[in-house]
Amino acid sequence: MKNRVADRVSQIRGSGIREFFDIAQRMDDVISLGVGEPDFVTPWSIREACIFALEKGYTSYTSNWGLSELRQALSDYTYRETGVYYDPEDEILITTGVSEALDIALRAVLNSNDEVIVHEPSYVSYKPCTIFAGATPVCVDTEMRDGFKLRADKMETKITDKTKAVILNYPNNPTGATMERKDLEEIADVASEHDLLVISDEIYGKLTYEGKHTCFASLNGMKERTILLNGFSKAYAMTGWRIGYAMGPRDLIGAMMKIHQYIMLCAPITAQMAALEALKCSTEVEDMVAAYNRRRRLMVRGLKEIGLSCFEPKGAFYAFPYIANTGLTSEEFARQLLMTEKVVVIPGNVFGACGEGFIRCSYAVSEYELKEALERIGKFISGL
Ligand code: PLP
Repeated sequence: MKNRVADRVSQIRGSGIREFFDIAQRMDDVISLGVGEPDFVTPWSIREACIFALEKGYTSYTSNWGLSELRQALSDYTYRETGVYYDPEDEILITTGVSEALDIALRAVLNSNDEVIVHEPSYVSYKPCTIFAGATPVCVDTEMRDGFKLRADKMETKITDKTKAVILNYPNNPTGATMERKDLEEIADVASEHDLLVISDEIYGKLTYEGKHTCFASLNGMKERTILLNGFSKAYAMTGWRIGYAMGPRDLIGAMMKIHQYIMLCAPITAQMAALEALKCSTEVEDMVAAYNRRRRLMVRGLKEIGLSCFEPKGAFYAFPYIANTGLTSEEFARQLLMTEKVVVIPGNVFGACGEGFIRCSYAVSEYELKEALERIGKFISGL
């Protein structure tokens, strides 16, 4: 049979991030600044809650919506942090990570021919998931000189009568950029004027080092048009647990729930019990955030000393230095650095064409490894 794979799948390249990991795995003495996950183990109290849950025999499915105690705790937590109230009955859905929440949010709202605005450089899943949902991603470049913020005027030029939604991700993967309240308000005005939905991926919200994270749904009139995505992977060092959530107006969350109940049934009960405990642990999270903040400073200072200009990241755990003046493309830089100095970084073009000329370096590694990696990068550059 010809065309065994659907066109919308075969047109998409595998994740560029994985390619580098596969090469690195076959080498010794590699330092990886490639990974997008905490180097910390999930705090003990969270792991213990899961062990207790297993001992007590919590091994079943839960409600499709997720455990009601967890939804109640998330409702309280979100209200406390952002001032936005979500009804735990039908405005909160527990998912298997933000990954699932993103997928079902897009599938719940998009018809074929719809367009979705995606700012770039951006997290690698936004465009493929939009295409899997049958719609078309429309990219808006962000630039280093604007602090990689999505500019409302630039976004507006890409809006057509097919535009249905915009995906926002601040703090941002891969640039570490954040948006201040006034920047987000400008986006909110455009969203209102053109009647757009906003899918706001705020998974790095707690990892904000300068100022305070503003939840997009907390802006005037935005709760009704925003699907807020969040999860436990990054701030609580829980990537392997696969647990996240979506919050939003009940018609949209209800539509997502329809898909979720057929494709996933529910998030794992053990991960839900652990998430319930995670919401109670603040000092462990604060300690991890403080460690990332120290490493962020070390990283930015180190990159500058090497001679790479770098926008100072304000959130998440990535730096996105400019490397084009070395004369190498992003791919060449990353490949040669790996082969000669055994340091993994991710070429910026993996995150969109406007990421060309940059590399993404994660600082979710120990300070020792970070210093060693910076030394090796410095050696690599001086040898060019
Ligand atoms: N959103 C962003 C911006 C990410 O960087 C990632 C993971 O790297 C995810 C979502 C996926 O999160 P989860 O582990 O909750 O599926």
